[in-house]
Amino acid sequence: MTTRASPDTTATLANLIDGRLQAPREGRYLDVFEPATGAVFARCPDSGASDVEAAVCAASHAAPMWAATPAEERARLISRLADLVEADLEAFAQLESRDSGKPVALARTLDIPRAVANLRFFAAAITQWASEAHAMDGRALNYTLRQPLGVVACISPWNLPLYLFTWKIAPALAAGNAVVAKPSEVTPCTAARLGELAIEAGFPHGVLNIVQGSGAGVGQALVEHARVKAISFTGSTRTGAAIAASAAPRFKKLSLELGGKNPAIVFADADLSDANLDTIVRSGFANQGEICLCGSRLLVERSIYETFKTRYLERVRALRVGDPREATSDLGALVSKAHYDKVVACIERARAEGGRVLCGGTPVQLEGRCANGWFVAPTVIEGLSNASETNQEEIFGPVVTLIPFDDEADALALANGTGYGLAASLWTRDLDRAHRCAAALEFGIVWINCWLLRDLRTPFGGVKHSGVGREGGVEALRFFTEPKNVCLRLS
Ligand code: NDP
Repeated sequence: MTTRASPDTTATLANLIDGRLQAPREGRYLDVFEPATGAVFARCPDSGASDVEAAVCAASHAAPMWAATPAEERARLISRLADLVEADLEAFAQLESRDSGKPVALARTLDIPRAVANLRFFAAAITQWASEAHAMDGRALNYTLRQPLGVVACISPWNLPLYLFTWKIAPALAAGNAVVAKPSEVTPCTAARLGELAIEAGFPHGVLNIVQGSGAGVGQALVEHARVKAISFTGSTRTGAAIAASAAPRFKKLSLELGGKNPAIVFADADLSDANLDTIVRSGFANQGEICLCGSRLLVERSIYETFKTRYLERVRALRVGDPREATSDLGALVSKAHYDKVVACIERARAEGGRVLCGGTPVQLEGRCANGWFVAPTVIEGLSNASETNQEEIFGPVVTLIPFDDEADALALANGTGYGLAASLWTRDLDRAHRCAAALEFGIVWINCWLLRDLRTPFGGVKHSGVGREGGVEALRFFTEPKNVCLRLS
């Protein structure tokens, strides 16, 4: 009935419920498309409320046993899963690339290794995590128990499928929770394969459940389920708001990692070496711009604007859009036809708003295998005010706008002048200014003279419409546990 998720064959994916691969109870499936070709290459369960119910039941049953399992044993199983993924890295990378349209080289060097790192990091972190204790002047001893929540939901998006999936399930499992996870229906394959490996790793039944399907069919049922105590969600701001509204009357714990409209700020004194320029280009176009941390507004000090623009455009024009399987492709296909249509429409809106397209601005028609794929040229636009829709709304594609600024105050006003607050990067040689700006930028993450340099111990997340809460390091372990203060009187 079900076959192994594989990069080469048309697979029918399964849910993982109670330690077994299961077909959806109502027998419905969704087509899974290969963005580079536009063709269907797998079928994913279109699960419903009855599958969610079965998964939550299995998780509820497993939760007390898993919570009582020593942290070292939980860590051992999570590390074992990491080893199995690593041993299968090339197949995972091929599958991720085929499912999402991203260049296989990126999946091989970023998505899958970082997914392995997530699993290993939280396996180690849980064995190192100490809780606090406070003595009250010798009168009493307070200590904090960090207890798992029980059943938690992890809902992840399509842009970094396995990376963001493991970013959630690893701390949830490490902290002793039973998990019901839902990957995006658009990119379900690597999570399905991970589920197969979780069985091989020997996780007790019901500890990790993966229910495939749509947001409306599975996501909503999970969010509304009375026995789901917390929801860790990464996705769009609109869906995050809907989840928050649904969770509020049920008083569920929420971690929301949402959209962004991130600035990259280039001061005139920046070290614009070739390597740094390459990083600035990458910060806009890596993964076709489908990374929540991509800098989509490039703010450049007016005195260097024209020379910077020339050098920047030269590099962007050299980016190669091509078959994700080819090592020479810098950008692959956009993840779905719907997303491709949205990005193309956003470029048209930018033109209608008066934007000048400096390069790209059109779909890319490839030949052969990829003739029906969803490719868009890396696009750079100037001439739009920061208040324009193009500069205010997340596009989540290979589209960067150039905006000149006059001085530091102007740069900060432009950077902060958005409803989002996920990540900013700034480029300067002036250390005083770098620290001053880092403090003044209304974003959860600020990179100085770099981009996407991540340390898993650090808090990750955004402010304003980019989300609520933080993930990463102890922040994630705190989210997935309930602190209980115990006070013992000392006589
Ligand atoms: P969506 O919000 O559309 O979906 C995210 C996940 O939520 C998917 O698994 C989706 O299922 C599910 N979902 C959809 N509707 C509901 C619902 N009503 N209840 C519960 N779950 C639901 O986002 P995308 O998948 O389009 O991802 C792109 C977005 O993610 C961008 O806005 C991007 O900025 C953001 N993002 C944020 C990051 C961050 O760390 N801040 C990191 C990466 C991405 P399905 O797809 O199956 O419908």
